[in-house]
Parts: sequence; C-alpha cells; structure tokens
Amino acid sequence: MDIEKTLKDISSGDNHLAWSAGWCIIKANAIDLNEIPLDSIAVIRTAVEKLPAPECPSVADSREIPKLALKILEHKESNTCRCNLYKSAQRFLPEEEQVRGYILIEKKNDIPWEPEFHCKCLSCGKKYFVHESHSYHYPWAEWSAIT
Ligand SMILES: [Zn+2]
Repeated sequence: MDIEKTLKDISSGDNHLAWSAGWCIIKANAIDLNEIPLDSIAVIRTAVEKLPAPECPSVADSREIPKLALKILEHKESNTCRCNLYKSAQRFLPEEEQVRGYILIEKKNDIPWEPEFHCKCLSCGKKYFVHESHSYHYPWAEWSAIT
C-alpha cells in the first residue's frame, strides 16, 4: 500500500479519491495498517466529515467507505478489536477477512448466492456466524456474534 498517497487521497475532500483510499485501508492487512501513523487520524476525521453529499444518490453513499476506513483506524488507536466493526458494517466478507489475516473460517455452508460461515476472530477469539449475500448490486455480509 502506498501510505502517502492513501493518506493524501482520503484527506483530499474528493469523494472518489476518498472512496478508493478508503478501500485501501479496509483491505489492508495488519502489517500495512501498522504503517499508517495514528496521528494522521485527526486530519482524516476532519476531511471525511466534510465530504460533500453525492450529487446523484446511488445505491450506496460512497462516503460510507472512507467513514468505515476511519473507524478501522479509530479502533486501532483505542486498541479495540477490529471485529467489533463487523456487525455494523456489511462490507467485511469472511473469505477476504481471512486472506487479510484477521479471522479464521471454521466452517462454510456453500449455499448458492447466500453462503454461510462460522468464523473466529484471530485477535480476540470471538466467534461469529456470517450470512453473505451475492444477490444485490454488491456482495454484503451480515455478522452476528455466537455466544
Ligand atoms: Zn476480535
């Protein structure tokens, strides 16, 4: 990940640049994420809050992505496990999170278009049941904690 460019783009005030930089942060593994200086969070927060509303409302507000990226950094700063974000955001797909090294998929029910997963957070050990859907404009996942 090009840290300098990512930080510049997410703080640029431009929806499109902030969107792609946001995805860079969401997709970053723990090693890449460690390279982002936490003292840049304040600048990012101010810039993300000021992003203009999209001119033509589409399926999803593009600002959702830089906002989620900011939350990832804020969780890191406060030493809160990343998995606490899974329930409130639908953009974390289990197989991608496993490749990034954050979770382990313990079981997958390969139901067409609607696979289900049993996952474990590799950092805090919390277990989740995930229902993933590929029938919408973009794939999304619904996480619920297994107690
Ligand atoms: Zn966790």
